[in-house]
Amino acid sequence: MYSVDCRQSSKNTDFRLDPAYSMLSTLYPKLDTANRAVLEQVQFERLRSQLEYVYARSPFYRQRFQQVGFCPDDLRELADLRRLPLLSKPELLADQQNAPPYGERLCVPSDKIRMLILTSGTSGIGQEAYAMTRMDIEYGGSAWANWFYRCGVRKGDRLLLTWPLGTNSGPQGAFLGGYKVGANVLPIAPYDSETKIRTYMQRFDPVAILATPAYLSHLTILCEEQGLDPKASFPSLRIIMIATEAYPVSWAQKIQAIWGARIHELYGNTQHGGLAAGTCEAGTITEQGSRGCLHMDEWSCLYEVLDPETQEPVEPGSEGELVLTNLFREGSPLVRFRTKDRVRLVPYHACSCGRPTNAIEAGTIARYDDMIKIRTQNVWPEAVDATIFAYPEVEEYQARVYVDEYGKEQVEIKVEFRASAGEADARQRILELAAAELRRNAGVSMCLVEASAGSLERFVFKTRRWTDERNKGLERVLHTAGGTRKE
Ligand SMILES: [Zn+2]
Repeated sequence: MYSVDCRQSSKNTDFRLDPAYSMLSTLYPKLDTANRAVLEQVQFERLRSQLEYVYARSPFYRQRFQQVGFCPDDLRELADLRRLPLLSKPELLADQQNAPPYGERLCVPSDKIRMLILTSGTSGIGQEAYAMTRMDIEYGGSAWANWFYRCGVRKGDRLLLTWPLGTNSGPQGAFLGGYKVGANVLPIAPYDSETKIRTYMQRFDPVAILATPAYLSHLTILCEEQGLDPKASFPSLRIIMIATEAYPVSWAQKIQAIWGARIHELYGNTQHGGLAAGTCEAGTITEQGSRGCLHMDEWSCLYEVLDPETQEPVEPGSEGELVLTNLFREGSPLVRFRTKDRVRLVPYHACSCGRPTNAIEAGTIARYDDMIKIRTQNVWPEAVDATIFAYPEVEEYQARVYVDEYGKEQVEIKVEFRASAGEADARQRILELAAAELRRNAGVSMCLVEASAGSLERFVFKTRRWTDERNKGLERVLHTAGGTRKE
């Protein structure tokens, strides 16, 4: 191991990204028709510039580069990036702890920071913090605007957003993207479902709506109960946009038939800082009934899909872990970050739209770790373990995530107490306290009930305590909803 210092040898001393960014945001439609060679040339130039940027600005990255004897001038082709080590969530959290609140990976002075974003929920080990500059925020909005346009959203179209604004990057990116594409944005997250449908959807008749698959099922059932035929009640609706959960093809087909609208899907995460991938005009389901794809925004990010064991790139058509390197980011850029998201790589030429960007399969994005996404919040079973087993009276528990008869995602946790636990009212008190703590820590309400002594299986691995029945729930809900209506 040796160290190098190539700050002096860097040819590019002007690290302002704004000119390039401005080009990117206005050129998206043209970029979509570029060929793969042009894309890779742009990626190479941006990567070189971004690596020089982080090397000069961030002690965190400089040290990482030096540890493997790499300096940005060494980058001769895109594949040279693989000389740098992969970056994991625990490393980011350790960096933040050493230099709070943003860590030494921060590349800008504090007066450049316009917004903070945080990874959602709690992993039991902490949330990552990202500093967003004006350019980072603007760029995120442009990526969303580009995708909205690709889905068919045009100026003046009423765009209904059901995601609540918070500290993760998705909802604010969607709002800004809607504004940038020129849509008439209706952010109605705070209202209950009935008010959304009766007051807002019927009154304003949206052209496009953004929701999660489970919430869409919930709205579908609610319409059924209220005697509303979505196709007739919302005649302008032609675009449904979803994210965050995997779903069966049959579910998507059913929803499209009931609502008379095409489903589009996006993929994004707070680490990326915006929208990372989205469907093209074709949507999530092909005309032949197979899964469509989400083109990755390879203009803003370099994506690798790697075998998580060998860390070698997977063959097209195979599954692997998505690893990202920001090509345009000022505040808290990432270099070779392991997302832990499991995706199936679809090569760019497999999609008939002709875009030069590689893609990932629609409807199948999952996790390598045991994180569970519940009502758009990230929940880690180990964090739930820590809360429940903090009570010495608890012997074992078992959790189930399902979609209820109203289409709403629910969590039921059965708790078995030790024989030495107190009387019934003391046990009930523990269930109530633990439920309140879980709601506070994970941001999700869970229903805790007592299980009779000896009724629960004993588990060694924490993930085995959890069963996810949501896909079953979606199918059941849709079977009911579609069963009474002719399509
Ligand atoms: Zn395409």
